Amino acid sequence: MSKNLSLNRRDFLGLGAVAAMGAVGLAGCAPQTPADQSLGETGTADNSDAAATADWLGAEPEIAESDIVETLDTDFLIIGAGTAGLAAAGAAADLGLDFIVCDKATQVPETREYLGGVDTAYAKANNVTIDRPKLLNELTRYASGKCNQKLIKMWIDDSAEYVDWVTEVMAEAGKEVMLDMPPEHATGGTDYYVPYVQHLWEPSYVPPTRNDVIAERLAGQGHEILFEHKMLKLLHGDGKVTGAIFETKDGMKQVNAKNTLLATGGYAANPVMMSALQPAAVACCTASSFNPTCTGDGIRAGLWAGASKDIDAAPMIFDRGAVAPGVDAGYEGTDEDGVLRGNIFQENIGSQPFMKVNRRGQRFANESTPYDFICFAATYQPGGVWCQVYDANMMDDMVRFETVGCSRVVPYIQAGMTFDEYTAASQESGILMKADTLEELADLLGFTGTDKDNFLAEVERYNGFYDAQVDEDFGKEAYRLSAIRQAPFYGCWFGGTLLTTIDGLRINEHCQVLDPELNVIEGLYAAGDVSGSFFSGNYPEYIVGVACGRSSVEGRHVAKLLAGAAE
Ligand SMILES: Cc1cc2nc3c(=O)[nH]c(=O)nc-3n(C[C@H](O)[C@H](O)[C@H](O)COP(=O)(O)OP(=O)(O)OC[C@H]3O[C@@H](n4cnc5c(N)ncnc54)[C@H](O)[C@@H]3O)c2cc1C
Repeated sequence: MSKNLSLNRRDFLGLGAVAAMGAVGLAGCAPQTPADQSLGETGTADNSDAAATADWLGAEPEIAESDIVETLDTDFLIIGAGTAGLAAAGAAADLGLDFIVCDKATQVPETREYLGGVDTAYAKANNVTIDRPKLLNELTRYASGKCNQKLIKMWIDDSAEYVDWVTEVMAEAGKEVMLDMPPEHATGGTDYYVPYVQHLWEPSYVPPTRNDVIAERLAGQGHEILFEHKMLKLLHGDGKVTGAIFETKDGMKQVNAKNTLLATGGYAANPVMMSALQPAAVACCTASSFNPTCTGDGIRAGLWAGASKDIDAAPMIFDRGAVAPGVDAGYEGTDEDGVLRGNIFQENIGSQPFMKVNRRGQRFANESTPYDFICFAATYQPGGVWCQVYDANMMDDMVRFETVGCSRVVPYIQAGMTFDEYTAASQESGILMKADTLEELADLLGFTGTDKDNFLAEVERYNGFYDAQVDEDFGKEAYRLSAIRQAPFYGCWFGGTLLTTIDGLRINEHCQVLDPELNVIEGLYAAGDVSGSFFSGNYPEYIVGVACGRSSVEGRHVAKLLAGAAE
């Protein structure tokens, strides 16, 4: 059996769970939105209007030849040095390709901890088996069929080779791989397929992290990443891409390339694109947990070059955007000035399946679901937010809940993590409410009149469900019910945290970008969040690490293909 997570408190603090990190444009912790600016009963109307009018694509910039201060030539241009770009560069270096890797940021992005891989050497050594056809079809079901199954299969088939490569590279940096496997996992009344694919190198947020290690390894092989190189447009014509133009601190630079890989991430940091393409996500999000340099540049450049894009959106949203009472989800400010209203990066307790109610004080969904389900359910609730409520026994409750992935808290509780540590961000912001009576808690949470009556009645009803071990309203599994009887009582309002977007340019199983007629655009590839054809509507969070997993494997696949080493 696999080694289970055995983390200490310091590791936990490193995970960013308590980090009230400065999200883009801090909105403070006091209620930000006057009642008359509320999104209203559905929370979607304002954003739908924006969708109808926004010109998120814009026009391709015209750059005169005389503005180019330097021209470089390469066989393989990799644009973006994040999860996908580094995987491509790592393989390109090992395979002896002539390549250049550029990024508009000043350093590689923060490493995201879980890397999904199927039937890796480590998993095999620990007798973990994955039902590959079932996994392929689970991911397809998640995408409602709006995906390229051959591409998904490529991830399933190629992922072990990539994770094994990272495992070796990380071992050289002194970090051992592990599978984050709960001792016994069940999704209760639900029937999600939860394969153990999530590989970790702990402590995952403490340097050197995966991205750092791969970047340093590249430097050691003589390949410096060109930072502060912002791709403005692709060079294209006659159905072919031949490089790109970059804005750099020294002026415009042209890179001519036989092949170009877009690995520029998604568009979560672009409020115009978000409002236009993902109104349902915007309507329930309060927290900016995304990489601020992921502004959809690659998607727009690809479209300018004749590519096609997924029709439906796919956001990655977690249920951790703690906010003050009265704050609505959605942007404050319009167009490119739009800023989500919360100032907490991620308050992880939001993902625990405690009772959650809307502004009317009423439950509205089963709380024991993947992270984004409660967020999407809140899209159709007043203000797009919800309130989570629990009592003094919350630590015992969370041990019993035994959630998976990055909401998995049992090892940290066993390592001594306290409630105050777990909720430090919301406590420091003054938005975690604590009271000796439920009446007082209702007042602190902002419930008045009928809403307060509803809230108190809902707690009583929920306690009855706990006693009977049956959720008559939403069918939540019995072990994920909890009593709310023991003072002190706690409550906090939440919206979604927007992490990234995972719909993008349509690609085939070799990551070649496709035009609207499904013809390959010669010389153009896409990997990671800039690319689509994998997810639709949401992120299959129970397949933990599949986002980094597919991003890396796609990037690596392109490098291997160009080196003639891909199957
Ligand atoms: C807080 C958080 C936690 C997450 N945790 C996990 C996890 O545990 N497991 C998991 O599987 N997924 C996780 N994800 C999602 C995962 O990080 C992404 O799906 C994955 O990193 C996508 O890889 P990428 O290479 O496409 O994008 P990124 O890794 O974001 O890299 C894109 C790069 O492109 C650069 N770029 C953008 N525009 C340009 C331009 N015009 N010119 C040049 N460079 C440009 C950016 O600066 C950036 O460095 C998490 C995401 C977030 C935000």
